[in-house]
Amino acid sequence: MKYGLFTIGCQMNQSDGERIAGLLESHGCSRISDEAAADVIIVISCSVRQKAMDRIFGKLNAWDKARKKRGLRLVLTGCVLPADRKRLANRFDHILSVRDVKKLPALLGLARQQTATRAITNADYLELPSLHESPFQAFVPIMTGCNNYCTYCAVPYTRGEEASRPSSEIISEVKQLIHGGYKEITLLGQNVNAYIDPETAQSAEILQSRARSTWQFKKNQPLQWRTATTNVPKDFAVLLQRINGLPGDFWIRFLTSNPQDVSDELLATLPRCQKITRYFHLPFQAGDDEILRRMNRRHARTYYLDLINKIRSSWPGVTISTDVIVGFPGETAAQFKKTVDVMETVGFDMAYIAEYSPRPGTASARFFKDDVPKKEKTRRKTILNEVLKKTALERNQQLVGTATRVLVERYNKRTGENAGKTETFKTIHFPGIAMIGQFADVEITEATAWGLRGIQGKIK
Ligand code: SF4
Repeated sequence: MKYGLFTIGCQMNQSDGERIAGLLESHGCSRISDEAAADVIIVISCSVRQKAMDRIFGKLNAWDKARKKRGLRLVLTGCVLPADRKRLANRFDHILSVRDVKKLPALLGLARQQTATRAITNADYLELPSLHESPFQAFVPIMTGCNNYCTYCAVPYTRGEEASRPSSEIISEVKQLIHGGYKEITLLGQNVNAYIDPETAQSAEILQSRARSTWQFKKNQPLQWRTATTNVPKDFAVLLQRINGLPGDFWIRFLTSNPQDVSDELLATLPRCQKITRYFHLPFQAGDDEILRRMNRRHARTYYLDLINKIRSSWPGVTISTDVIVGFPGETAAQFKKTVDVMETVGFDMAYIAEYSPRPGTASARFFKDDVPKKEKTRRKTILNEVLKKTALERNQQLVGTATRVLVERYNKRTGENAGKTETFKTIHFPGIAMIGQFADVEITEATAWGLRGIQGKIK
């Protein structure tokens, strides 16, 4: 059976695609990139933004024709909101939750349906072997799902509650990757710093207390808001220390973190572990406390700014990126100005700025009016992009004349240039012989807002 993968969305979806590929190939299937020749297409969808779903709707007519004409089979998985499941029920042969992807071979007639001998958890499918797209960079999911119910977010509804993988399983996967020559391991999860190792007794207690703190938006229930959680798990810091201690020359990255779950242990661990790259992605979403409260974020503006100061003072040279939403329901011009102020105060290296779009079934879509006009959302996004351009350029210019280690990802034969990422997750180009998949020491000679250029040299 020939299968195609149509993956949209975040790194977690890409990683799920690699696991689905591993599963199907272990049943004799082979992947092809030409959709017209595929027997089955697995669509890994994203419900976080309407734009992502629009890409799927844009393909439906062509897929419908192929289903009728040549019996193409279509499977939908990934992040699918209940409302989209209903709308798409007739357009796919199978729609299954990502936690159920192990059933795929049986659904496609490649194996007999296994009877589950124990309850399936949201994280069980993560034990499937991955077929990594890259021979030197790998995503390793450590947890999935989320208990935070930010009012705009689809994840708790599409992926379910937080569930973490046992640390022994993660360590053994990382060891295999290092043994196979992998140079960059990215630990993935919706909230990696909420990782709770199911194998330790201390985790069991925290897990219970976090499950109790799970909260779902109900009409007439006042929004709850904490400045920081009291039950910050320490297990992510311990996991990082264990992976850092494995022999080999490799980098550790991690995505995504929630400000409320940054423990003191994590802050102490990051600068101590040489293999952890100096890059922290920490979404703040909005700069105004009332908007944060309506988003059900559990951090206030001052808490976030203090945290950034702590990170920068304990971890010299770290670069920081963030996620921001503009035009959240009810966001006034004055409230938006506070977001601009956070952007200017922090001076991010990178920011992923999104215009708010209501996701069907989420609390903000049900209870708040999407009342900021599209034109105004776009205007606010442009303003933030201008701030980002300025701060990113300033930060990059400070790097000119310094040296950095780079993992080379691509080579352009025409220009004779390597392109890759610095340890601090900045894109850099430098001339020389092709070094794809290798580390290079590069001296930075030029900077723009969105990247660096350099020449190969020795790190002093
Ligand atoms: S923390 Fe909020 S934004 Fe992040 S995955 Fe959970 S609900 Fe979504």
